[in-house]
Amino acid sequence: SDQLPDLLVVGSGFFGLTIAERCAADLGLKVRILERRSHLGGNAYSEREEQTGIEVHRYGAHLFHTSNATVWEYVNRFTAFTGYQHRVYSTHRGQVYPLPINLGTINQFFDAAYSPAEARALIAEQAAELGGKEPENFVEKGVSLIGRPLYEAFIAHYTAKQWQTDPEKLSADIISRLPVRYTYDNRYFNDTYEGLPVDGYTAWLERMADHPNIEVVLDTDFFTVAEQYKGRVPIVYTGPVDEYFGYAEGRLAWRTLDFEEEVVDVEDFQGCPVMNYPDPEVPYTRIHEFKHFHPERDHARAGEKTVIMREYSRFAEEGDEPYYPVNTPEDRATLLKYRDLAKAEPMVLFGGRLGTYQYLDMHMAIASALSMFENRLRPHFRDGAALTSGGVAE
Ligand code: FAD
Ligand code: UDP
Repeated sequence: SDQLPDLLVVGSGFFGLTIAERCAADLGLKVRILERRSHLGGNAYSEREEQTGIEVHRYGAHLFHTSNATVWEYVNRFTAFTGYQHRVYSTHRGQVYPLPINLGTINQFFDAAYSPAEARALIAEQAAELGGKEPENFVEKGVSLIGRPLYEAFIAHYTAKQWQTDPEKLSADIISRLPVRYTYDNRYFNDTYEGLPVDGYTAWLERMADHPNIEVVLDTDFFTVAEQYKGRVPIVYTGPVDEYFGYAEGRLAWRTLDFEEEVVDVEDFQGCPVMNYPDPEVPYTRIHEFKHFHPERDHARAGEKTVIMREYSRFAEEGDEPYYPVNTPEDRATLLKYRDLAKAEPMVLFGGRLGTYQYLDMHMAIASALSMFENRLRPHFRDGAALTSGGVAE
């Protein structure tokens, strides 16, 4: 690998793999991917737990869903999907409620039998405390969507545990990810397409990299070899944008997660894939039980055992994995400075979750990479268009 590739990709998550696959397969370029972890795939990576053979998502549970037909067609080139539909429950004060907030949650919570119209009227009455003001932050958005009592029960403390940030400083987008429904439909996602990769995430991720023009170099931090590449080959960088610039404008704040995995001696621990814990007395936010993500699989080898994972959230410190951008107004101001630096950086495009400091679902990371390929990389390699003035805001 002394010879320089046509393109260097830093990071082997969905963003980097999509770029590499398109450039190799469609443009015939020689692509080298550098990955600092000892495996490819970024945060979607999964592996089988040794004792039970159950597939465990190493960096948190990953559910694939999209309404983007182009992305759906693209991902189906590398894997088939099961018919899995995500559903989540929430244990509040000793009772189990369905999520996202739906007519079932509302009627159970208020011990009532409201019709859809009656439930809408009730929530509208409760949301009237905002006086018709356009919601500007997380709390106002939450109260406008579900009213104060449901917000306090299911959202306030869960969000306090998840973010440890004044909810008035959190973006309203975070709560808008969850649907609110005035029916008994408790599917977690609204998207057209949903499913889990039949052979697991790692098989999917490996197939994306399985091309003679793609070389994956593991256990290699870009910053230890950057001088071999900078200014000599085009680079698509999917690591943290502040790290690239040596934190010159300060650190962008991230949340990280601690996952406490346990093999439990019971065939079924909680009867569903994800149970949330919105009460303040419980230190974790949720428990995943991986068996339930694949009801179609034969889990005979696991026998009377199951794998669960408790999830705890805290601020990321140096050396921790950055998982969720905190994205306070201060962070957004810092990000603008990094965007200017990124635009001025010759021959480097910044992409992905870390490179743009954005929460991106897998389908969004893939869509964003396909768009960078079509709008930046193809014009550059085909027609010699300049690669500068790119930017973080793909
Ligand atoms: P990543 O997957 O983070 O990949 C970046 C890669 O770059 C990493 O492998 C990293 O090691 C490498 N890297 C960084 N710096 C360097 C360097 N200097 N040198 C070499 N390599 C480097 N999405 C969904 O659609 N559904 C879900 O249910 C879902 N659940 C999630 C749960 C959690 C806890 C998290 C954190 C994310 C979840 N996501 C989910 C989002 C999903 O993980 C992302 O969309 C996806 O990881 C984005 O891919 P990426 O390539 O941008 O980043
Ligand atoms: N949330 C909450 N209670 C819940 C589930 C979600 O308050 O039971 C809030 C919380 O602030 C969370 C956000 O809604 O960060 C988005 O939830 P989602 O399930 O999409 O979070 P993710 O799976 O991305 O961690």
